[in-house]
Amino acid sequence: MTVKKSKDFDAWYNDIVERADLCDKRYPIKGMNVWRPYGWEVSLLIDALIREELKKTCHKEVCFPLLIPEKLFKKEADHIKGFDAQVYWVTHAGDNELEERLLLRPTSETAIYSMYHLWIRSHADLPLKTFQIVNTFRYETKMTKAFLRVREIHFFESHTCHRDFEDAERQIQEDLDIAKDFFKNLCLPYLLNKRPEWDKFAGAFYSIGIDVILPSKRVIQLGSIHQYKENFSRPFEITYEDEEGKHRYCHQTTYGMSERLLGATISIHGDDKGISLPPMIAPIQIIIIPIIFKGKEDRVQKKCHEVYDTIQDNGWRVHLDDRDITPGMKYYDWELKGVPLRVEIGPRDIEKKMVTVVRRDGKKIGVQEESILEGIEREMTDYSETLMKQAQSFTKDMIHRSETLMKGIEGIIEVPWCGNETCGLEMEEELDMKTLGTPIPPVECTGTCLRCGKKATTWVRLAHTY
Ligand code: ZN
Repeated sequence: MTVKKSKDFDAWYNDIVERADLCDKRYPIKGMNVWRPYGWEVSLLIDALIREELKKTCHKEVCFPLLIPEKLFKKEADHIKGFDAQVYWVTHAGDNELEERLLLRPTSETAIYSMYHLWIRSHADLPLKTFQIVNTFRYETKMTKAFLRVREIHFFESHTCHRDFEDAERQIQEDLDIAKDFFKNLCLPYLLNKRPEWDKFAGAFYSIGIDVILPSKRVIQLGSIHQYKENFSRPFEITYEDEEGKHRYCHQTTYGMSERLLGATISIHGDDKGISLPPMIAPIQIIIIPIIFKGKEDRVQKKCHEVYDTIQDNGWRVHLDDRDITPGMKYYDWELKGVPLRVEIGPRDIEKKMVTVVRRDGKKIGVQEESILEGIEREMTDYSETLMKQAQSFTKDMIHRSETLMKGIEGIIEVPWCGNETCGLEMEEELDMKTLGTPIPPVECTGTCLRCGKKATTWVRLAHTY
């Protein structure tokens, strides 16, 4: 009836995103799905975590128009080449053809930088650090997949301006620290890869991909960090006056992550019973289920409400499921939706002054009622750590370091590389894989390039990708 994750990951994923009430794919535009309330709540919790990280690091939130005039978009030549085929154009307003075409942002550099040109005057205005959490539009031609490849994408993007290259590099270090904190919340291990020259972001000096390997054994980019140097500030004339009165171009960086974060979290932690949400992004962290026996309904209901109040007063997101259906049906629903902890309360528990706590991973613990908060805290932490450890162990098993070009590897292969583009492209072709790039931080490699036999300068990672 339902699809097993271990049998067919793709079919399981396509099915579970709808059965867990995250989205509805029936909206009549391909690749533009409807966020259902439960899915949107998860997404807002992810946004809140990102917002917290960015505010902590002194980024200011902005909100730019969705539409970008064609002439702004065409200011940076490489940028256009990278995005042109994916752009949705607005050509009419009512019956009138617009004098200048407008596009739906595929990303916001060209919108934001036209204003940075006006906002930045002096070195005292720097660094300027802004971000926004908005939807962006890209006409994807590959097969669409909920959260992982869509045409309307929910994402955050931060854009920063700096007085010089070194300060922009410090920003990139801060971005990496943000990733470290942020991904803990999702219990997701990730790999940082410096993309090769031929696959960097359109207009970037260099790009770092934040990559995760999914159970399909293919790698997906969840986010990216870009060093632009002066590549955008020159065409957009984003300059500042330094202490000596000289006009200089700003150095810029961007950072972005999308709703793929949710897609990857579902993919990695879910199982045959449903999704498994890490506590930090679960709209309901604890579900209370009354175990009703005839004649003892009132006692059980009363106790459930008491426990509910205790847990809620302590700041947890908790829900009491008092629907008139069997406990078994309730377990099924909340396991499907990935609620981390279930608290069961029946007459026998009440007599023993206990509650039964069941984790989404199946571990069942009796907890004294008086120490219920400590029990929840402990199990929630342990559950998060368990999710992280499982995901780490899977990721580790998927990375294969090799001194030969082994074909048919499942996951990621790391091989010695001289750094030369021709050698890189030949390896891609031979393995029928894509280059993820070189590890960050760099890992010393003493081997020889597998194509040209010259001394390798680095390891390079290749994989099947989304
Ligand atoms: Zn080589």
